[in-house]
Amino acid sequence: MRVDNSTSHNPPHQDPPGQDFGSRVELALGATNHLFNARNSPRYVAQVLQGVTAVATKLERTTRPFTGVGPSEMKARVGAVDLDTPLPDTAAVLQELEEVYLRDAVYFHDPKYAAHLNCPVVIPALVGEAVLSAVNSSLDTWDQSAGATMIERRLIDWAAGRLGLGAGADGVFTSGGSQSNLQGLLIARNHAVAGLRRDPANHGLRLPALLDTLRIFTSQDGHFSVQKSASMLGLGYDAVVTVPCTDNHRMDPAALAAAMAEAHDAGLTAMAVVATAGTTDFGAVDPLADLAALARAYGAWFHVDAAYGGGLMVSGRYRHLLDGIGLADSVTVDFHKTFFQPVSSSALLVRDAAMLRHITYYADYLNPESAALADIPNQVDKSIQTTRRFDALKLWMTLRIMGADAVGALFDEAIDLAARVGTLLDSDDDFELAAPPQLSTLVFRYRPVLGTGARLSDEEADALNPAIRAAVFASGNAVVAGTTVAGRHYLKFTLLNAEATLEDIAQIINLLRSTGADLLAKAATA
Ligand SMILES: *Cc1c(COP(=O)(O)O)cnc(C)c1O
Repeated sequence: MRVDNSTSHNPPHQDPPGQDFGSRVELALGATNHLFNARNSPRYVAQVLQGVTAVATKLERTTRPFTGVGPSEMKARVGAVDLDTPLPDTAAVLQELEEVYLRDAVYFHDPKYAAHLNCPVVIPALVGEAVLSAVNSSLDTWDQSAGATMIERRLIDWAAGRLGLGAGADGVFTSGGSQSNLQGLLIARNHAVAGLRRDPANHGLRLPALLDTLRIFTSQDGHFSVQKSASMLGLGYDAVVTVPCTDNHRMDPAALAAAMAEAHDAGLTAMAVVATAGTTDFGAVDPLADLAALARAYGAWFHVDAAYGGGLMVSGRYRHLLDGIGLADSVTVDFHKTFFQPVSSSALLVRDAAMLRHITYYADYLNPESAALADIPNQVDKSIQTTRRFDALKLWMTLRIMGADAVGALFDEAIDLAARVGTLLDSDDDFELAAPPQLSTLVFRYRPVLGTGARLSDEEADALNPAIRAAVFASGNAVVAGTTVAGRHYLKFTLLNAEATLEDIAQIINLLRSTGADLLAKAATA
């Protein structure tokens, strides 16, 4: 029987939706039914609006990226919550959430957040996020997704087209760059093993013996997920050959040629060359065309990790930095970095769609291998996940509302800002820039000239710079990252906020300077 519930579709009150409205809807509907369905849609609208309003209000009132709260205080506050006794309504929970999360979260929209590649997000993607989680499509099978599968496929084709991967390309959305790299290298490994198995000389050899011969070449500035992937793929960290870079932190093609020749002479198999388009520290883009040629010469898979640089595909001014990426066998792109999407949103793209067969497994209950079902578009055939978020929708909404050029313009702004900050740091006697900026990062350290006329020593700078970073983080007034260069400790800006100004970053620099001077003064009197 169908209960007439037409009245519950109308909010009981005409006030603008907000916390009071939400509480009244909760009262009107009773506290017990929380399933999202046709009858409960007013509750959905009201509660989501309460949550969204709480975040919006929070952002309006937040004037620095962090409060400086420490782990022990947060642990105590979160630990004090009685998870077995729910609160009366959403408003009360949002109030509690202020204490255990919102007040002390790290806010990436703030111009003084300048640390990691996690980015400020665009509003169209947040609309997408709300839609996709409510509809809750799962992208593994057609019968759990329908149009969502086609939207994902369109976006994969769009991105592959932008990268110039050719008409036979394909790919899939993933949870992040680490997973994209893992999947790219998984395909490369299975492709290499299939090749080795075809060689009569290897007949009778068991899988471990074949895996033992595989080598992955990446630059010393490549992302650590390459090493982790090698480990997960049963190859071990030692299967990764790290190739030196030239002065600009790009992989040295001559060094790659030498390393590949050496491996070849030792009877090893070049499984893959992993180039980086935008290294995490220096934003360096490896010489893609040169590396592609070497990979091809040795029959190696050519994977480009463009987790950071992928946003250049929509750039108005810097697209040329990706020249040669169309030669890749596979590409990692993180939309949750330089496309300003909320976590998670990433993709692995492959030049040859057929290569995805290396990860296909037929399960009778999900995607059985039968001629009758062969035309059913099950994305699980292409993914290492089964149940999978419809993250593609966020990018879809972004392209449909903002357009690709506007996304690219946001990244271009960040790149231009980094160039200006580079000039600023270069002319500042208290700081040393490790290298000119290439995308939107700056690696530098505080190393002033002391009263004695001598510069702070390397050793002292090594102790001081991480201490500056920690003190600034604890102040909550800015968030910067740290890294090491040739064993020395440096600070790092990662700039992704198109609305941050040179003045904002100059203020961070002055904060780093005054914090460093204070720490030096304290050390001198201690
Ligand atoms: C961020 C990053 C990754 C890892 O991506 P996640 O989305 O964090 O998993 C891989 N490679 C590079 C170059 C990156 O910058």
